[in-house]
Amino acid sequence: MKYRTVSYYGEFHCIGGICEDSCCENWEIDVDDASLKKYMKQGGEFGKRLRENTRVKEKQFINKGTRCPFLNEDNLCDIYIEMGEESLCETCTNFPRHIEEFDNLKEVSLTMSCPEASRIMLAKKEKMTFSCEEGTDEEYGLKHIAPVHSFAFWKRGHVNKLDKPLFDALFSAREFIFSILQDRQEPIAKRAATVLVFASAVQEYIDGGRYDNILKAIEDYGQPDKRRQMEEYFGRFRNRVTEKENWMRQILNMYEGLENIKPEWRELLSEGMKIMHGENDLKGMLVSAGMLTEESAGEEGSSFLRNYTLSYREFANYYKEQVYEFEHILVYYIFNYMLGASYDHDVFTKVKFAVVSCLVILELDISVWLTQHKEFLYEDQVKVAHAYSKEVEHSYNNFESLQLVLSAHPILSLENILVGLLS
Ligand code: SF4
Repeated sequence: MKYRTVSYYGEFHCIGGICEDSCCENWEIDVDDASLKKYMKQGGEFGKRLRENTRVKEKQFINKGTRCPFLNEDNLCDIYIEMGEESLCETCTNFPRHIEEFDNLKEVSLTMSCPEASRIMLAKKEKMTFSCEEGTDEEYGLKHIAPVHSFAFWKRGHVNKLDKPLFDALFSAREFIFSILQDRQEPIAKRAATVLVFASAVQEYIDGGRYDNILKAIEDYGQPDKRRQMEEYFGRFRNRVTEKENWMRQILNMYEGLENIKPEWRELLSEGMKIMHGENDLKGMLVSAGMLTEESAGEEGSSFLRNYTLSYREFANYYKEQVYEFEHILVYYIFNYMLGASYDHDVFTKVKFAVVSCLVILELDISVWLTQHKEFLYEDQVKVAHAYSKEVEHSYNNFESLQLVLSAHPILSLENILVGLLS
């Protein structure tokens, strides 16, 4: 088996008891068959505890409130302590690793939903790189019993075989997308916009069964003429600020409708929405920060929203040295999900997911920055990014709902996302 991993993969070590957001809280833990069998056979007092705290039919532990029943007061795992690391179930052994499988290749990354993994990724100033080597699950810290299925299976249940010719073409397309996203000569919004337009063209070739054209598109989109053409096209989406604000408001509303995994996420989102709706004390904050005068603060409606838009630009300037964080977030989502389209033939939805995720994280960053009197630190980014990932990537319901909306709803058309990106 070959394993492709992100360059910082080996740097991760669980910080366990001192982690600010234990992965043993806020969600149900699925237990694989082999571990379940072992737990149910365990003797003594601990065996009794295991049986009392497991729903055998559902193959899940019974949470105590929001916590795993085996997470002790020191935030350490009693299964690990009583039975040893090798007895942890597949879910607990593998977390925070994100695994995608393609025949004899596994792609393994570290999910942003773990704050420590998020911290490692966001601290890297250099471009994210990947390497591929022969190996075993053990060498990569994985416990792999049942086949790991990509979330990409959701869309077309009847298609569950890897389309190898498509995989090969998409692999090249993904490399090309990485090169666009990591082209630091260009503004990040333009990089993301280029990737979206390219992915939409790739989707057309997939739908038409013309995989050979994907390689031609890679060549085409690399040409200066095509870049100039795109620049002109992007001009149509600039300065449509009111549309952008309305669009983002609808996007945040959509996220509010998702199942809530972690209260911290709900707080971030509702603060972001209050700012979008002008319902919090943002006017006062902008006045005290010198971004709005008392006179203009007295005006209602659109003038206030325009000042909000200015804050968008000011944040971009304030945080310009850390743009690589957004680049990493985009590359992370593309790496984790794009090749899932080799199973369900829907690449455009996955690329849209990456871009919209980045835009939502940015929007919430700005609201945190505003509520903190225009201060936003690396730890704030870790907090927002990991809360987003936990909410969206670790709930089948949320992930599936989002993918459905991304694939079909007009609000997430190419044009609307370009307005959100470029205005
Ligand atoms: S979230 Fe990450 S660092 Fe925290 S306990 Fe889980 S694996 Fe360890």
